[in-house]
Amino acid sequence: MMKFVVVGAGFAGSVIAREVAEAGASVLVLDRRGHIAGNAYDEHDEHGVLIHRYGPHCFHTNSERIVLYLQRFTAWRHFELRVRACVDGKLFPIPINRDTINQLYGLDLDEAGIARYLDSVREPRDPIRTSEDVVLASVGRDLYEKFYLGYTRKQWGLEPSELSASVAARIPVHHNRDDRYFQDIYQCVPADGYASMFRNLLDHPNIQVDLGVDFFAVKDRLRYDHLVFTGRIDQYFGECFGSLPYRSLRFESEHLPNCPFHQSTALVNYPDERNFAFTRILESKHITGQTHTGTTITREYPSGTGDPYYPIPRPENEALYRQYKALAERETSVTFVGRLAQYRYYNMDQVIGAALAAADRLLGR
Ligand code: FAD
Ligand code: UDP
Repeated sequence: MMKFVVVGAGFAGSVIAREVAEAGASVLVLDRRGHIAGNAYDEHDEHGVLIHRYGPHCFHTNSERIVLYLQRFTAWRHFELRVRACVDGKLFPIPINRDTINQLYGLDLDEAGIARYLDSVREPRDPIRTSEDVVLASVGRDLYEKFYLGYTRKQWGLEPSELSASVAARIPVHHNRDDRYFQDIYQCVPADGYASMFRNLLDHPNIQVDLGVDFFAVKDRLRYDHLVFTGRIDQYFGECFGSLPYRSLRFESEHLPNCPFHQSTALVNYPDERNFAFTRILESKHITGQTHTGTTITREYPSGTGDPYYPIPRPENEALYRQYKALAERETSVTFVGRLAQYRYYNMDQVIGAALAAADRLLGR
């Protein structure tokens, strides 16, 4: 029987573990954390509120294949994320839409009027290389300064001009009144939570899960035919070319008893960098649909130190990653998959897609 060791029990590791286990291999899954599900992990806090421990996780995808895949392990709760941004003490829809502009400037423009308005304020840029270029070219300087500049500086510790265009390009601009954060066909969360879905995903007789185990502490003792590594790629190679920058977050939760809801949407963003050190406040109850007399809110403080949560998309980091990727390609008995190992700003569905593709390659399908 072929033996796999999988490092990381997040989406990347768990999906591959399941696929190879179903194909008849034996799999040992290690995670240095004391729980499965990686950054998608949810749990009941001490007050009984189901919270997303590592920030809001809203599943969204256009891939029916990926929805059907996960459906084997969970039922769904339909959920479309809506977000407000707090600007000058008032809440506005973000992504910027018709209501954002009308409410902010006291206007009453229809869709065509919004298109003309944006045409009059946008600052065309050619080429569009950075996040600053993307935003200035689509909504102009005032909206850039109010909604993007402070948020981006806090989130990344960089100027928008130092970040690749792909970062700010995640957030669209709408001329209509659509205030959904995502436009994907499928938008949902696991009905019983992510941890429950992962328990089902990893529940297979060929899979053994060892938690609280750091791969680097035990690697000399491990015996396997193939290793799947979903941690930091630079760490795997002893940071031989220097460390790849990842951005971290600190989460501060507060329970509010006898308060069914604290805010109108699951997320409220705080782009103002002078008055707020956090970027956003999450109220998980909106996402989970839980009924509870109280609520728990979580403030997100970006940080340069701590667990790695985000790769930082900019050309010099991509160049450094490519050096590691070249080493990775020479390792015939190791597969590198996931947000940290591929240094990609992946959403959950993209990680699952990458993991399924890697499993297909491993199994010669
Ligand atoms: P991870 O979930 O990070 O799993 C990697 C695992 O490997 C971790 O559990 C880690 O402990 C373990 N590990 C690392 N190194 C070692 C080691 N040396 N030894 C043992 N174990 C190790 N995506 C969406 O689609 N929608 C969202 O709404 C969304 N919101 C997000 C909000 C935040 C704040 C963040 C940070 C991410 C969000 N994402 C969202 C992205 C989503 O979290 C990722 O796409 C997904 O979790 C990545 O899965 P992964 O398996 O690659 O990595
Ligand atoms: N962003 C911003 N203002 C906002 C929301 C997002 O400037 O109100 C920018 C910011 O640079 C952020 C990026 O858009 O890092 C991507 O936002 P997203 O909500 O996708 O971030 P994530 O949920 O992945 O942290």
